[in-house]
Amino acid sequence: MAHAQLLEEKINPFHIAQQQLDKAAAILKLDSGIHTALRQPAREMHVTLTIKMDDGSCRTFNAYRVQYNDARGPNKGGIRFHPEETIDTVRALAAWMTWKCAVVDIPLGGGKGGIICDPKSLSETELERLSRAYVRAISRFIGPDKDIPAPDVYTTPQIMAWMMDEYSTIVGHHAPGVITGKPLAIGGSAGRGDATARGGAYTVREAAEHLGLDLKSSTVAIQGFGNAGQYAATLFHDLLGCRIVAVSDTRGGVYNPGGLDPQALVNEKRRTGTVANFPGAQQISNDELLELDVEVLAPSALEEVITEHNASRIRANIIAELANGPTTPAADEILFNNNVFVIPDFLCNAGGVTVSYFEWVQNSSGYYWEEAEVHHRLDRKMTEAFRAVLNTSTEFGVDMRTAAYMVSIQRVAEAMKLRGWV
Ligand code: NAD
Repeated sequence: MAHAQLLEEKINPFHIAQQQLDKAAAILKLDSGIHTALRQPAREMHVTLTIKMDDGSCRTFNAYRVQYNDARGPNKGGIRFHPEETIDTVRALAAWMTWKCAVVDIPLGGGKGGIICDPKSLSETELERLSRAYVRAISRFIGPDKDIPAPDVYTTPQIMAWMMDEYSTIVGHHAPGVITGKPLAIGGSAGRGDATARGGAYTVREAAEHLGLDLKSSTVAIQGFGNAGQYAATLFHDLLGCRIVAVSDTRGGVYNPGGLDPQALVNEKRRTGTVANFPGAQQISNDELLELDVEVLAPSALEEVITEHNASRIRANIIAELANGPTTPAADEILFNNNVFVIPDFLCNAGGVTVSYFEWVQNSSGYYWEEAEVHHRLDRKMTEAFRAVLNTSTEFGVDMRTAAYMVSIQRVAEAMKLRGWV
């Protein structure tokens, strides 16, 4: 019942993305022509994919690819497989990709894709056919110089491998740069696997330094235990020295104020498919996890989990938004007034696209870097981005999200002006 209520109340995520843009544009006194252009995606594809199922029947799936803005370079953004995917979620995620690439100052634009499906109910061979069908449907509009997809929720390096192979077959040559997040053996980058969480860890390190918070005595709660959440648990523990006290996935969460062993949690998730029954911990709901008395809260699942209904009960000092869009604008205001330091999504989780960018660069030169070099370059990018946003936040007296928008909007607008679009 509570879940159904939440779904009913979900605000259109694209309206949220537009509202966030509007707020920063007003402070910047952004030219109204540029502002209008930035409120809409440049191009979107709605495609229908029909595939043969293992039992001989066929099924049709709806899918999208949105290319938001490519003023700074080819569009870039992940592909999500989710039963509740909507075109407006894809639009919002494509907009956030535009701001994300700009905030870390990489020469890429924003895009996103999605297939409405429940990947957990599909076999491996059905997933492969669906992934290949998607690439066939949009193949003319993607490519290393046009639009470069990547993984997102419920898409994996294996899916990227099938998609890269399908695209290479269509164009008639090896084209690893069409997609990132590939397995290492076929042109992936060292360090891509944990890049989103690692980049997030670097921003948490910077935020803690700014706030004078000792991370070695800090506790962390993580909502979502996939690529972002699992690596956040291990890296926030190993790299930052934090104590991970709570984690969750779709089936629920676990809490132990004395600390949870991140690697044991990862093993449990692999073995049983969930962390919800992890031994030696108290079971808690996803809602309870968000309101725990911790120093760092890392929403790492889906959108709109911190809203006007629970924001005033959030006790964390820092919210590290590894998920895209976890906080609504109304919640943002409450958090800002309560001095909760939010590291906004498109800054906090930009490590993924940054190493995807490194992967694309390595694919184009055919020369691959050591993992330590990837980490070093990622740290530099994330730290520079964090400091640019923090400086803007301090200078204008605005929250970190608005400041991140201000930094990104100015960069995208400059590119549009230089190209003579506006
Ligand atoms: P994933 O598919 O690897 O994992 C998703 C996790 O979220 C799973 O553990 C799932 O159980 C959990 N989950 C789903 N719905 C939930 C719910 N309602 N409550 C609690 N847990 C729930 O996905 P991911 O790649 O880790 O992506 C997670 C978030 O991070 C998304 O918002 C995504 O857009 C964002 N993100 C991912 C990357 C990346 O490189 N993978 C980069 C930037 C941002």
